[in-house]
Amino acid sequence: RASAAFVILTRNKDLKELRESLVQLEDRFNRRYNYPYVFLNNEPFSDDFKERIRNVVSGECQFGLIPEEHWSYPDFINQTMAAEARMSLLERKVIYGGKESYQHMCRYESGFFFRHPLLDQYKWYWRVEPGVKFACDIDYDPFVFMERNNKKYGFTVSIKEYIETIPTLWNTTMQFMKQRGELVPATNLMNFVTDADGGYNRCHFWSNFEIGSLDFLRSEKYLAYFDYLDHAGGFFYERWGDAPVHSLAVAMFLNKNEVHWFEDIGYYHAPLWNCPKGAANKKCWCPEEESIEIKNKRWSCTLDFMALPNPEI
Ligand code: GDP
Ligand code: MN
Repeated sequence: RASAAFVILTRNKDLKELRESLVQLEDRFNRRYNYPYVFLNNEPFSDDFKERIRNVVSGECQFGLIPEEHWSYPDFINQTMAAEARMSLLERKVIYGGKESYQHMCRYESGFFFRHPLLDQYKWYWRVEPGVKFACDIDYDPFVFMERNNKKYGFTVSIKEYIETIPTLWNTTMQFMKQRGELVPATNLMNFVTDADGGYNRCHFWSNFEIGSLDFLRSEKYLAYFDYLDHAGGFFYERWGDAPVHSLAVAMFLNKNEVHWFEDIGYYHAPLWNCPKGAANKKCWCPEEESIEIKNKRWSCTLDFMALPNPEI
């Protein structure tokens, strides 16, 4: 058994959808493993929420309030400029553009959730969101799999990002790599995110599902990268998502052997599936032809990830 927990950022109003997801997660996996849950919110959870969540899960539950300094504007952000940027995103119909709470959420998931005191005791996290589905029986422990195989980051879906949300994220990342080259190992996964011209190919791991190492996120290099991005301002002047931020960090700091595609975990987050194929589909209720690498081939980056050479170790 690993030192691990499910981590769920959510709101009181998400109760119904979250319970539906947790019933599936328990049925397919956790009723046999009883891993604990940490629920996080920028507002206090209601007693009704806590009780009705406890009623459907087998693991111990902890409910945490997010400290205000992790969910508010840092003093180096110009809030007038941020408000103007949101207006512009809204006018240009950029997805979630103009939604201030969404920006705080993305910044929190990028730079703070792993610093919540309720997670201090754990080494591994599995991120879950309200409304996601789990279709396949998981008859082994993915946390222990990560630990034994020296993995740092696990995903189910990878896809190309809406570039209007992150126009300067790539260049900011390149500047960071130049300034802090000592933090970047020679063997990494930058080829997963780089196109033929040396620009960003928009590939990222979908962060609504992640099984990962908390120590990686707490590392000096990850924190230096987050801090650099935070000061550049794109969480508020653009609409940087935590998925491309995590993914660029993974690409910069990890090698391919440290990253794992959980092909066997049948997982749905609207509007996409990761669904096992062939014999592995027998333990699932998802249709394999719905899986993103088959149905939305041009959006998916997963087969490109799999085709990358493994580093020699
Ligand atoms: P999407 O997956 O990008 O469409 O975004 P979601 O609406 O699913 O939000 C991502 C995650 O953040 C989910 O787990 C939400 O429950 C959570 N979330 C989003 N906004 C808020 C918020 O304002 N407060 C809290 N506590 N959670 C939020
Ligand atoms: Mn979501």
